[in-house]
Amino acid sequence: MNDLLLQPVTNLKGVGKGMGEALHSMGIETFNDLLWTFPYRHEDFRLKDLAETPHNERVTVEGRIESEPVALFLGKNKSRLQVQMLVGRHLIKVVFFNQLYLKNKMIPSSIATVTGKWDRGRQVINGTQITFGPKVDHADFEPVYSLKSGMHQKKFRNYMRQVLDESKSAIVESLPSHLRTAYKLLPVADALEGVHFPIDANHAKQARRRFVYEELLRFQLRIQALRKIRKEQEQGLSIHYDLEKLKKFFLTLPYELTNAQKRVVNEICRDLLEPHRMNRLLQGDVGSGKTVVAAIALYAAVTAGFQGALMAPTEILAEQHGESLDEWLRPLGVEVALLSGSTKTKARRILLEQLKNGEIDILIGTHALIQPDVEFYKLGLVITDEQHRFGVEQRRILRDKGENPDVLFMTATPIPRTLSITAFGEMDVSIIDELPAGRKEIQTNWAKKEQFNQVLSQMTKELAMGRQAYVICPLIEESDKLDVQNAVDVYTQLTTLFGEKYKVGLMHGRLPAEEKDAVMREFSEGQLHVLVSTTVVEVGVNVPNATFMIVYDAERFGLAQLHQLRGRVGRGEHQSYCVLLADPKSEDGKERMISMTETNDGFRLAEKDLELRGPGDFFGKKQSGLPEFKMADLVHDYRALEVARQDAEKLLSTEEFWQADDCEQLRNMLAESGVLNGDRID
Ligand code: ADP
Ligand code: MG
Repeated sequence: MNDLLLQPVTNLKGVGKGMGEALHSMGIETFNDLLWTFPYRHEDFRLKDLAETPHNERVTVEGRIESEPVALFLGKNKSRLQVQMLVGRHLIKVVFFNQLYLKNKMIPSSIATVTGKWDRGRQVINGTQITFGPKVDHADFEPVYSLKSGMHQKKFRNYMRQVLDESKSAIVESLPSHLRTAYKLLPVADALEGVHFPIDANHAKQARRRFVYEELLRFQLRIQALRKIRKEQEQGLSIHYDLEKLKKFFLTLPYELTNAQKRVVNEICRDLLEPHRMNRLLQGDVGSGKTVVAAIALYAAVTAGFQGALMAPTEILAEQHGESLDEWLRPLGVEVALLSGSTKTKARRILLEQLKNGEIDILIGTHALIQPDVEFYKLGLVITDEQHRFGVEQRRILRDKGENPDVLFMTATPIPRTLSITAFGEMDVSIIDELPAGRKEIQTNWAKKEQFNQVLSQMTKELAMGRQAYVICPLIEESDKLDVQNAVDVYTQLTTLFGEKYKVGLMHGRLPAEEKDAVMREFSEGQLHVLVSTTVVEVGVNVPNATFMIVYDAERFGLAQLHQLRGRVGRGEHQSYCVLLADPKSEDGKERMISMTETNDGFRLAEKDLELRGPGDFFGKKQSGLPEFKMADLVHDYRALEVARQDAEKLLSTEEFWQADDCEQLRNMLAESGVLNGDRID
């Protein structure tokens, strides 16, 4: 870096010992440090029309002083100074407290510019600032910095001005020129000027645009470089699948894959072939068809002579997957087996034997898969469904049953793209963002709790047509006795109501696992008509005949969870309904209910959730792990993030990046952050 910029701030005029210390306490030692301390907002000094200024808003006006100022003493060191001014057609009063020294400067008939809070009713500006004479052209916006005590805005701005004036020419451009041209981004020095002292609103906006992009590009370069290095270092398997066989498999499916499914299949297959270990997250909304993608990936591994494993969080889910995969793959000569906690001892012994000698190609199961005596012959691919239901350790144990097998995680929790490409920086992410054609949208309504009886009669109509229904009861904590009580109460109420006519089942977290499974099975086989449940029913179960869902106290649930719950209906050919029973008190709560009735799109809801809760809260404080940005904002700048992501990917793979002079700053950044040690990566 240029020496000019490395000068200590104490070289600035007006920075003595005291101010030097104040700056030091803010972490500012050099000119450069100061330059990159950005204001958190700008005070807007543009002239406004008083007729359009709301009550109590800050405003700047220019006008003519119309009266002699009048001073009023209010006691010790307290005073009030008042003067009349003509602003446009408004004759108003301007008041300053405890600033008597202004009195002599307020000369009738002279022009002055005043800033202050507008009291619309009394037609008074409570002044905070006054300059005599017409408004200075360039002073539309003043930066406001977050300062430590001992430092003042005015002083700080003065230092900033000095630094910019003295060393602007020394600031080195850090963005490659082709990118700056492509997006019409300001050169760095001009952008810094625009951040600290914008000429007008557009200057400030363009300055921000440049730094948002730069920040995101740097971030993307870092995480992508890291990922590339990891791929180079980690020994993985090259799974040379048989493309012809895969194509034949596609033809046997009862439907054509959606474009999104095709895209993610390609992404996964590319990873399988390459020698690095796949570490990929597959996101797809409920019902988007992740199971068949998993089946394709597993089959691909089998055609290359490897075994595959698929782990699901519940026994029912594992069984459902087992049935689907068996139906699809057995005709192709693939041996699919199911292992769960309820597999009988003898069957289990035989199964484990076959698994070890390679007679079983694909093993599906619950966490029974990670027991120590489960040994594979040649495990090439591991898939976990609803990955967030498993702990890190459980996923690791399964992975370690092979030698660096490829790993695919599946999740139906839509995570806004911005968050997933930042928070899961170390994983590759595939997204199925499209539902199979011809799905009927679930109709969602929001009803008040007092309308419960009407909702019940709606539900009864569905039952009369042979459909089934879920009634979901609120849950604050899985273990909370009250919640169980809630569910039990509703269950009792409904059993009494329906008598012999319809059978009602009860499910909650306190039931032993076998009982939960038994209830769920009865419901999925149609022996139960209504299932009253807490949110334990949330995960992946497929009962296409269930078309009606009531969610009690829906305001207690977050958007993501409501969406997951709702995904239990709308899985078959019949029109489905979801009724949210809620009397939300807060605006947030109301907005959540409205969002649910407006869209069935999990990603849109997730974006909304992010907007309502902010990125920190989205994952819960503990595991946020999100990077902090100076300028960029993950909620609003997601387009820029996507662009930066693609640009970073392209840059890292070009010769130019490793040689061109105008990429040197970015290369240095990678080296300084410890990502590179001088070598280029491919
Ligand atoms: P999820 O992603 O929630 O796990 P599933 O894999 O259970 O979704 O698929 C939901 C339903 O959609 C299943 O009944 C499945 O057979 C069906 N399905 C999957 N892909 C397609 C497709 N391309 N066209 C039509 N139906 C599909
Ligand atoms: Mg699924």
